[in-house]
Amino acid sequence: MTSPHLIDEEQFRVEVRAFLGETLSRKGAATRSKSKGVMWAKEFQHQLADAGYAGITWPRAYGGAGLSGQFQRIFDREATAFQLPPRALEIGLGMCGPTILAHATEEQKLTYIPPLLRGDHVWCELFSEPGAGSDLASVQTRALRDGDTWVLDGQKVWTSGAQHSDFAACLARTAPELPKRDGITMLIVDMRTPGITVRPLRQMTGESHFNEVFLDGVRVPAANALGETHGGWRVARTMLAFERQALGGMGSGGGGRGGFNALVAEARSRGLASRPEVRQRLADLRIRQMVLRHLAGYLGVQRGSGRSSGGESSLLKLAMAKFVQDTGNTAVSVAGMNAIAWEPSDPEGGRWCGQLLSAQSASIGGGTNEIVRNVIAERILGLPRDEEGDIVVPFQAVPKALYGS
Ligand SMILES: Cc1cc2nc3c(=O)[nH]c(=O)nc-3n(C[C@H](O)[C@H](O)[C@H](O)COP(=O)(O)OP(=O)(O)OC[C@H]3O[C@@H](n4cnc5c(N)ncnc54)[C@H](O)[C@@H]3O)c2cc1C
Repeated sequence: MTSPHLIDEEQFRVEVRAFLGETLSRKGAATRSKSKGVMWAKEFQHQLADAGYAGITWPRAYGGAGLSGQFQRIFDREATAFQLPPRALEIGLGMCGPTILAHATEEQKLTYIPPLLRGDHVWCELFSEPGAGSDLASVQTRALRDGDTWVLDGQKVWTSGAQHSDFAACLARTAPELPKRDGITMLIVDMRTPGITVRPLRQMTGESHFNEVFLDGVRVPAANALGETHGGWRVARTMLAFERQALGGMGSGGGGRGGFNALVAEARSRGLASRPEVRQRLADLRIRQMVLRHLAGYLGVQRGSGRSSGGESSLLKLAMAKFVQDTGNTAVSVAGMNAIAWEPSDPEGGRWCGQLLSAQSASIGGGTNEIVRNVIAERILGLPRDEEGDIVVPFQAVPKALYGS
């Protein structure tokens, strides 16, 4: 890429298009094997970094390009024509990295951001537990201070990508004598530390996207606290806003795995494209996809200018969940029997069924539809907060189920 100080938007667009054309296949071309997804994502991130497109809006001091969100938007728009690798680095790039930029010390930023942008490190999010999902501030994983280390014990669950991860952002209870939101610390955990066991969970799609993670006497340097000690709830809220924005943006890419164009091609090949009810459903999906893309682009520009967007990112995430589920349902009605049974030798077999099944998770991961509606009600509509009886009492006095102890 030409020096960022010298380029204008049109020149940037031309250069991006040329880079993507040299590096990726156009949409619809044969795709690479999914099992190679993490390796491909890392390789592509290396290529982005070499070309100056890794972290377009991120500060140059940490390996970013230091450009405005408008340039990211141009890149994203150009990229919609190409077959991108799976978003295997998204938890690092879309969630942990921006949270580190917002809350970390200078030393932490210099340590973790450059390798993240180069695609050297995969990150995961150790938040949810068997007894703490929607009520995330009830995490029971303990971190006890021993000299200049924290010693972690507990169990996490639904940890996406933990089996491939180098680092994690982990929410742990450091002061049980304080109310639940006041006694949590966010720790950066090296996933190769002794005492960590990752056990993949098999989903109904047949894949193992997420895992159980057991933490058994895991020693974490005290210097790895992200943000203030016992101030982890504030950091978690920042990360959840970035998570909803990242998830919302992912959904607008093409309506899930099958992609919108492939869905139209399927309707054409089955002679259904001229039926009014099919045309209406496809047109509705296309309009919503474009609205989602614009909203994701707008929030990306806001993020590039350092403005946070807790309520708006929840709105995007909610709309994305509904969109990918409606796309999955439409795909299965269009594909008919092809969506239900296929020859094992068919490379495209299972595409629509996989899309329908995986779309169900969109209304759970990153906060359920009910929880994001609560956030929208409170932060955008200004409605009163839910009553929470346990918010002022010491966490250790709150009755709770104990897991894994
Ligand atoms: C694909 C996927 C990937 C995920 N990846 C990760 C990850 O990488 N890291 C991680 O930490 N977690 C991850 N999760 C976990 C996810 O964040 C939780 O599943 C989610 O927050 C819901 O928590 P829960 O499953 O414990 O459900 P619960 O909190 O037990 O909720 C059960 C039901 O009760 C409803 N409910 C609960 N509280 C309220 C309320 N106050 N008002 C209205 N309704 C309510 C919920 O909406 C839901 O329908 C992932 C989940 C999925 C599906």
